[in-house]
Amino acid sequence: MTLIRADLDALPAYAPGRVVPGAIKLASNEVALPPPAAVLAAITEAALGSNRYPDQGVADLATRLGLQHGVDPARIVTGCGSVSICQQLIQATCFEPTDEVVFAWRSFEAYPIVTQIAGATVVKVPLDAEFRHDLDAMAAAVTPNTRLVILCSPNNPIGTALSRTEVERFLTTVGPDVLVALDEAYHEFLTDPDAVDGMDLLDAHPNLVVLRTFSKAWRLASLRVGYAVATPAVAEALRKVRTPFSVSTVAQAAAVAALDCAEELLATCVEVASERVRVRDALLEAGYTVPPTQANFVWLALGDRTNAFSEHCLDHKVVVRPFHPEGARVTVSTPEENDAFIAAARSFAR
Ligand SMILES: *Cc1c(COP(=O)(O)O)cnc(C)c1O
Repeated sequence: MTLIRADLDALPAYAPGRVVPGAIKLASNEVALPPPAAVLAAITEAALGSNRYPDQGVADLATRLGLQHGVDPARIVTGCGSVSICQQLIQATCFEPTDEVVFAWRSFEAYPIVTQIAGATVVKVPLDAEFRHDLDAMAAAVTPNTRLVILCSPNNPIGTALSRTEVERFLTTVGPDVLVALDEAYHEFLTDPDAVDGMDLLDAHPNLVVLRTFSKAWRLASLRVGYAVATPAVAEALRKVRTPFSVSTVAQAAAVAALDCAEELLATCVEVASERVRVRDALLEAGYTVPPTQANFVWLALGDRTNAFSEHCLDHKVVVRPFHPEGARVTVSTPEENDAFIAAARSFAR
């Protein structure tokens, strides 16, 4: 095919969690509950203006987020999900094929895809024996060609979180000349008091960018809103490379309304956090290797039994996310859905 650039053939496509009618979907780390009624009302009202372009500046939402995080709204960049912000970060930092993007592996599967789309070089640094980011190895992997490092805490698909101390040490080692993105898509599910909150480190580290999303705890995965907090200069660069009007009026209104429902939405995260202990304990008891998790999912290190496990769960009407031949990621959901998964996992012949 000559119409399309040659390297696209080798590019892996992003594999979304499967939707199987009649089965419980634990494959995409969504919250199982619909948005609160007040959010649905805001969506309906905003939809009335669908004939008009959205506010390109996303002013209401940025103002709200600025208040919440104690930063100037000019430092906030919203996007069509935080995956889009990852893409913008790479577009704003990389333009030579020798430009490198460093991240842990395994981590979020979108990172290598958006790096390769930009024509930059992927540098994957293996997780350590405890399935955690190996930050010393990541710092050592930074070269004069490194344009961006992406840390993910809690790390998708494993669930392990970075501590504040280790991220501070990493930032000090790497120095101020490389952009470091901290992807905190699962921040709201953290319970470990030592876990990093990137917002606390922004003032001391102007090369840090913190990513958050409304797709998980805030129950708006379908509406596509994520954001970055950075210095005004980095934020400006991220805005330059964005797709115009990428956050719809409905999405903007829904995100603001969701922030108004924080108490209800965050209460669900507390329930998920206690369920994940129950799910992990049941899996450990059944003999699985499951790293500690601070997110709304668990990782089962299944090796070459991963696909068989996934098929077995499907036979039991539970959809998990296999990453063969490494392991499977399973969303922690409501007690009933988790029970169905635990039963499936227990009956898997080991
Ligand atoms: C789900 C997820 C996101 C958020 O994606 P959206 O594009 O905002 O839906 C970002 N990073 C990680 C690691 C995720 O798991």
